[in-house]
Amino acid sequence: MPGTNLTRDEARERARILSVDGYEVELDLRSAVLPVAEGEGAGRFRSRTLLRFRCSEPGADSFADLLAPEVHSVVLNGTALDPALVFDGTRIALPGLAEENELVVEASCAYSRTGEGLHRFTDPVDGETYLYTQYEPADARRVFTTFEQPDLKAPFSFTVTAPSHWQVFSNSPAGGDPVAVESGLTWQFAPTPRISSYITAVVAGPYHVARDHYTRALPDGRRLEIPLGALCRASLAQYFDSDEIFTVTKQGLDFFHEEFDYPYPFGKYDQAFVPEYNLGAMENPGLVTFREEYVFRSKVTEAAYEGRANVILHEMAHMWFGDLVTMQWWDDLWLKESFADFMGAFAQVEVTKYQAGWITFANRRKTWAYRQDQLPTTHPITADIRDLEDAKLNFDGITYAKGASVLKQLVAYVGRDAFFEGARHYFKRHAFGNTTLADLLAVLAETSGRGADAMAEWSRAWLETAGVNALTPQLVTDSSGTITGFAVLQEAAAENPTLRPHRIAVGLFDRDPDSGALVRTRRVELDVVAGARTEVPELVGLARPALVLVNDEDLTYCKIRFDEASLATLRESLGELEDPLARALSWSALWNLTRDGLMPARDYLEIVLRFAGRESDIGVLQSLHQQARTALDLYVAPEAREEWAGRLAEGALGELRAAAPGGDHQLAWARFFAQTARSEADLQLVGGLLAGTARVDGLSVDQELRWTLLHTLAAAGVADEAALDAELARDDTASGKRLLTACLAARPTAEAKAEVWRQVVDSDQLPNALVEAQISGFQAAAGGAARELLAPYAEPYFEVLEKIWSERSIEIALRIVSGLFPRLVTTEATLERTDLWLREHEAAAPALRRLVLEGRDDLARALRAQRRDAARG
Ligand SMILES: [Zn+2]
Repeated sequence: MPGTNLTRDEARERARILSVDGYEVELDLRSAVLPVAEGEGAGRFRSRTLLRFRCSEPGADSFADLLAPEVHSVVLNGTALDPALVFDGTRIALPGLAEENELVVEASCAYSRTGEGLHRFTDPVDGETYLYTQYEPADARRVFTTFEQPDLKAPFSFTVTAPSHWQVFSNSPAGGDPVAVESGLTWQFAPTPRISSYITAVVAGPYHVARDHYTRALPDGRRLEIPLGALCRASLAQYFDSDEIFTVTKQGLDFFHEEFDYPYPFGKYDQAFVPEYNLGAMENPGLVTFREEYVFRSKVTEAAYEGRANVILHEMAHMWFGDLVTMQWWDDLWLKESFADFMGAFAQVEVTKYQAGWITFANRRKTWAYRQDQLPTTHPITADIRDLEDAKLNFDGITYAKGASVLKQLVAYVGRDAFFEGARHYFKRHAFGNTTLADLLAVLAETSGRGADAMAEWSRAWLETAGVNALTPQLVTDSSGTITGFAVLQEAAAENPTLRPHRIAVGLFDRDPDSGALVRTRRVELDVVAGARTEVPELVGLARPALVLVNDEDLTYCKIRFDEASLATLRESLGELEDPLARALSWSALWNLTRDGLMPARDYLEIVLRFAGRESDIGVLQSLHQQARTALDLYVAPEAREEWAGRLAEGALGELRAAAPGGDHQLAWARFFAQTARSEADLQLVGGLLAGTARVDGLSVDQELRWTLLHTLAAAGVADEAALDAELARDDTASGKRLLTACLAARPTAEAKAEVWRQVVDSDQLPNALVEAQISGFQAAAGGAARELLAPYAEPYFEVLEKIWSERSIEIALRIVSGLFPRLVTTEATLERTDLWLREHEAAAPALRRLVLEGRDDLARALRAQRRDAARG
C-alpha cells in the first residue's frame, strides 16, 4: 500500500494547525446499477467535497486525504489547482493556507469489492445492487476528500443521488423527501453533530426496512424521541426478526440512559445488516452497520442470539464511548473498544434475557485475550500506534477482550458506582471532543476515592504493561487434611515480567453429600499483592476441599492454575461442578494448560469426551467443540491424530443420539459430528443425513446444516463437483455461493488447492467474502492425506508475502497473510523456514512482520504441545 499510510506525527502536526468547520459531501451513486464491465465509469461514482477549515498558521502548507482513481478539479480558496500537480493518488497538497479556507474537490472514486470504502454487492437472488460504507480506521478517503484522523472532528452534510427505487441512509435523518432528478432521486441529509470522519456512513440500495420507535422522559422534563430502523437485503426479509432486534435495542437504550445520564445525541438509530462485511459491526452514529450473517437463515443456537444481542449493545455503548467522546489517535483505541466490549456484556446481563453474558465473557472473550497476550507481538492495552498500518492490526484481542477484562477488574477495584460516576463525568466534560488515557484516569481518580497516585499505579500495572499473570493456589495441610497454610502464587512470563495487584475471589468446592454435586462451600475475596506470594490466612484451619478455584467469579484477568488435588478432582468430576461460571472457568483453565503444553492434548480431549455432554451452557459447549478440533488438528501427537479423530467422532455421535430432540445441544453435536467424521461408516451417515435416508429424531437438516454436511463430504473427497453444484441450485444465494466456494476449496486434491492459490494469490479479482471462503476451505483439515497437499504451499507462501503486502488492500492482505500461513504443516522445517524469512526481512513492514511472527508463535506452540502429547505415552 505505497503512500496510503499516515503517521501519528503527520496527524499531530495537521491537528496542531488545522480545525474544521464542516464538510458538504455530494455523492452520485446512479452508476452503481450499471453492469460492472460496461465501459469507463461503471466501476466509479462521482464525489464532490466542499471542506471549510481554519489554519492557525496562515501561509503554512498541509494536505487532505483522498484515494481515488481520478481527480477532476481542486479549487482552494477560489484558485483552481492542477490535479496533476497537487494530487498523488492518495493525498491532495494544500499549499499556502489562509486563516479561513474553502477547498472544493471533484473526483471519481471507485466502488469497493473488499469491504473498504463504498462496497458494492449484487444479490444473485434478484439482481439488485446494495451499497454501504465502512471506513475505520481510514477509508472515508476512498469516498470523499477528508482529513482522515479522529481528532479533526466536524459536522458532515451528505447529499446522495441514487437510483429511484432505492432507499438511502446516512448518520442523520433526511432533511425532507428526496428530489427527482434524471433516472434517480437526490437525498439531502441533515448536518451531523461534530464527529470524526471514520464513523460517517452511507447505506444505499433497495433495502428492506422495519421501523419502530423509542421514547423516554428525560430528567429535565423533556421527552427524548428516537426513531428506530432495521435494514437488510430484500431477499433476506423473510428471515429478518426485527422485533427481537428492536427489543434488545430498547433495553439497551434504557440501560445506557440510566447509567450514563447523557441523552443519546444523534437523533435516530438505524441498524443495517449488510452483505460481505469484514467485521462484526461498526458504530456509525445513527446508522450502525452489522454483518448480515446476524440475520439467521437456518436454525442457530441460543448462543448466536446472545452473541448478536451483545454486538447490538457493544455498538450502542460506542454512541457514548467512541462517537460522542473519541480517542485522539489510535494509541487509545482501547478507550472506546475496551469500554464497548465491557459495557456490551454488562448491559446484556443487566437488562436482556441473555443471562449467560459473564459466562460467555469468561469463556470466549478471555480466551481470545489470553491467546493474544502470550504472542510475542502482544502490547500494552494503551498501544504505541505509529501509523495506520499499526492501527489496522490493533483491532485485536488486547484492545477488545483484555481491555474489557481489565475494566471488569477495575469495577471490582473501585466499585460499580464509582465506575459509572466516572463515566458520567467523562461524557459531560469531553462531549464532542477527543481524549487520551489521562482524561479517563482523571475522572476515575475523582470518583473512585482511590486518588490520582493509586489510579496511576493501577494504570501502569494494567494498561501500560503487557502480559498475563498465572495464579496458583498453594496449600499446606496436616495429617488430618486440615489447611495449615494457604497462599496464592503469582507468576509472569519472562518476556513480560510485571506482577500486578489483583482483586480476586477464592472459591472452595466440595461434594454435596446428598446430590454428589461439587458445590461452593466457602468464598473469600482478597487483594493479591503485586508480588510472587500472597498469604490467605482466612482459609487456615478449614478442611482441604476437593477443588480450589482462584479467580472464582472471574473478577480479575489471569490464567488460573490448580494444585494437584484440585486438578485430579476436575479430571474425575468436572461435569459435577454445579455453578456454570465456575465450570466455564475450569474449562478455560484446562484449555490454557493444554495450549501451554502443561497438559497433554489427549488428556484434555479425554475430559471433553467425558464431560462435554453434560455441559448445559450452549456457548461453552460450542467453544469446547472448537477447542477440541484445534487440539486434534494442532496439539495431538501426529501419530495419534487419526485414532483420536475417530474417538471424537464416536463421542460426538453418541451425544448427538442422546441429546434432546430439536434442541440447541443436538444441533451443536450434529455439527461437531460432521466436523470430525472421517471413517467410512461416519461419512455414510453424514451422506445419509443429507439425502434424508438417515435421521436423528428431532434434527432438522436445514440449509446451513446441509452445507456443513456437504463440507465434510467434500473435504473427504466423497462429494464431487456435480453434487456441490446441485446444492447451489437449491440455494442459489450469496450465502450459497460462499459456502459452495469453501466446499470446492476443501476438496482433497492437488487441483483444488492449486485453484485456490490461483484465485486468491495469483489473481486479485475475488471480493473479500470469497477470499475468506477460499482460504477457509483451503485450510480445512481433514485426514492425513489432505494435510499433505498443503505442504507444497509453505515455500510459495513465504515467496509471495511482500508482493501481497504491497499490492493488495490492507484488509485482503491481512486475510491472505494470516489465513494462508502454513499452520497445518506442523514441522520443524516450517518453523525454520519462517525464521529464515524473518531474518531476511528485518526491514519489511512492521505490520507484515507482526502477522508472520504470530503465525510462527502458533506453530512453535503446536510443536511444543505435540511433543508434550507424544511424551504422554
Ligand atoms: Zn467496537
